Amino acid sequence: MSATAQPTSPHVMNTYGRLPIALSHGQGCRVWDTNGRAYLDGLGGIAVNTLGHNHPELVPALQDQLTKLIHSSNYYHVPGQEKLAAKLVELSGMTNAFFCCTGLEANEAALKLARKFGHEKGIERPEIVVYEHAFHGRSIATLSATGNPKIQAGFGPLVEGFIRVPLNDIEALKKATEGNPNVVAVFFETIQGEGGIHPMRWDYLKQVRALCDQKDWLMMIDEVQCGMGRTGKWFAHQWAGIVPDVMPLAKGLGSGVPIGAVVAGPKAANLFQPGNHGTTFGGNPLAMRAGIETIRIMEEHKLLENAATVGAHLKAALEREFSRLPGVKEIRGAGLMLGIELDRPCGVILTQACEAGLLLSVTADSVIRLVPPLILSIAEADEIVAILAPLVKAFLAEAKAA
Ligand SMILES: *Cc1c(COP(=O)(O)O)cnc(C)c1O
Repeated sequence: MSATAQPTSPHVMNTYGRLPIALSHGQGCRVWDTNGRAYLDGLGGIAVNTLGHNHPELVPALQDQLTKLIHSSNYYHVPGQEKLAAKLVELSGMTNAFFCCTGLEANEAALKLARKFGHEKGIERPEIVVYEHAFHGRSIATLSATGNPKIQAGFGPLVEGFIRVPLNDIEALKKATEGNPNVVAVFFETIQGEGGIHPMRWDYLKQVRALCDQKDWLMMIDEVQCGMGRTGKWFAHQWAGIVPDVMPLAKGLGSGVPIGAVVAGPKAANLFQPGNHGTTFGGNPLAMRAGIETIRIMEEHKLLENAATVGAHLKAALEREFSRLPGVKEIRGAGLMLGIELDRPCGVILTQACEAGLLLSVTADSVIRLVPPLILSIAEADEIVAILAPLVKAFLAEAKAA
């Protein structure tokens, strides 16, 4: 991000290298900055704005909710929690949900569930398997689970009790856990997002499911980024036909309203009892309404099919443009979660694309990431490629000449 870092506000902490624009409003997959310039949104607020901007069915529903109740606290029943939990249970094949506000909070709940699961089996020092390149958030526990030394630097001592393994290597997982009675869970993203759009293979997911069953471990899948329809299934692991024991969600679940959830199956659903876990804002009526309406609108407008179809079209177009270019290593991902890996750091593409009217991100230094709203049309997908192709070609040609 350093290539794009701008002097920041004197009052806002300097946590992000920001591009020199401010967005003012949006419509569908398009946003405008405060100078009236339009951009095509290939980023969706980092996989958050599922329904794009100013959705004609979401906005009135949220307005209606604002006039009724924004927040009530968890001292009382919140009917929206019942409704959204029932929907998530139906879509996931799991049994219960807990609501919070962010991805890291959902992952914290998952980590606490895993430890409680261990303690109830008499394991005093539970250990959780995590993965290279993983990203699970920036709290002390979730950054300890994250597989990126840059995110951990300066924040030690890290939380203990994690065992790290490489992706898609069942023998490595077996070896790393061999004879260790303290292992309680395996925790990973179906498609790593921040780590550079690295998918777990479907056959590997099945092998991990079988191993977790055999060893009585929890299979915990962080679907914060790849879930909520992004790959064309409600949850990316469903492509492998498996069901996890614990599944954190956030990002796309509320179409932009902050919301997180952890969904659990029978092995983990009853571990928390009153007093074990909670959060003040979690499950508030406004966020619940956002989640309920997001899913309703996704079903009504067949947005899973759209993500799959438009995503396949976009990936094919990217492959046509890029796959034979020297300097392009790989095009990865599923549905509307795609990454183009170059053979060199390419942070500058973020700035160049923005100047050309396209919002996207560059992650893991050299991966151009596209996670647009799930309402993206074929024409908009073509427009993304039309803007991006000349930029990437010029970037690679220039870097080679230098
Ligand atoms: C973004 C992300 C998180 C963290 O979510 P926050 O809402 O930023 O705390 C966790 N896991 C994955 C896979 C993510 O992509």
